[in-house]
Amino acid sequence: MKKKTAIITCFLAVCMLALLPGVQADAKEPVVVVIDPGHGGEENRGGEVLPHYVEKNLTLQVAQAMKQTLEQFEGVEVYLTRTTDQELSLEQRAQIARSYGADFLFSLHFNMSAEHNLYGTEVWTSAFGKYYSAGQTFGKLQLAEMTQYGLFNKGIKTRLNSRGTDYYGVIRASRALDVPCVIIEHCYMDHPIDSPQANSPQKLAAFGVSDAMAVAKYFRLKSPALGLDFSNYPYELVAAPAGGISVPDSTPPENVAMTVTSADLNTGKVDISLSASDPQSGMLYYSYSIDGGATWSVLTPWTGGNTIQFSITVPGGSQPVIMCRAYNGYDYHTDSNFAVPGVFAAR
Ligand SMILES: [Zn+2]
Repeated sequence: MKKKTAIITCFLAVCMLALLPGVQADAKEPVVVVIDPGHGGEENRGGEVLPHYVEKNLTLQVAQAMKQTLEQFEGVEVYLTRTTDQELSLEQRAQIARSYGADFLFSLHFNMSAEHNLYGTEVWTSAFGKYYSAGQTFGKLQLAEMTQYGLFNKGIKTRLNSRGTDYYGVIRASRALDVPCVIIEHCYMDHPIDSPQANSPQKLAAFGVSDAMAVAKYFRLKSPALGLDFSNYPYELVAAPAGGISVPDSTPPENVAMTVTSADLNTGKVDISLSASDPQSGMLYYSYSIDGGATWSVLTPWTGGNTIQFSITVPGGSQPVIMCRAYNGYDYHTDSNFAVPGVFAAR
């Protein structure tokens, strides 16, 4: 009996020791990060616009640099969903992440817009519960890295399909497998404001390092090899959405109106006041037209409240029909009224 009691006591002591914080620190489960280089296989997205910007190649280069950097941190295992130019379905990418026991799946992408007019960096996340919370929390760290390149911050967004689940397949499939997932749209391949940021292997590798830093901060990793310690990195956990779902904006900006506050018919200088509002996603950009909406200026970031002021110069000898276009956080736009300030003198 005594021997048995001693064994039990000893067993209990070991159990107690295991429960003490810090004692088992070395046995802590590593964080598992899975990186998904977006696209791959037959398709050639991006290449049809500019041959140097084939998205599947850009994402793979960024992913490799991200992996190499993250592997210099302690307590993390890093995997890629693909290491070659391979076609994978969105569901397969999520399944690969799940099979590695991923704590997070980071799907890397580069953006394009139908009219080749948008620019900036953005993150997409699940609209639901803890997946939204994780995506929003990480997204802030990611966008803080990206804006260091001077990229315009387009925010962290959710998108739903007609069935009311996450629109983006890799996010939807990951959530179904209980893996938090974000899509990182680093910048636009098809806009001259952004594309120089991704035009060399060195710049793509720099994006990968930045992505790794955001992940290292999120998981509070440290790397003696790199001399970095994010173990106390401060950030706020974004709460899960009220009601369990963050409903995306589906309507364009409201109350879009412009006035010409002054027009100098000799110099061509026109001062404009533009108002717009969007309670859901806020205002993102504006542009203007001097030919009644036939052609539009390059988009300008909307900085300020619901009313902004700016000046344009119209050509001499013209009678411009001036209009403005206001864009919200989801890139939806509304056109303003138009104004015809007069006939400008030839210069
Ligand atoms: Zn993509």
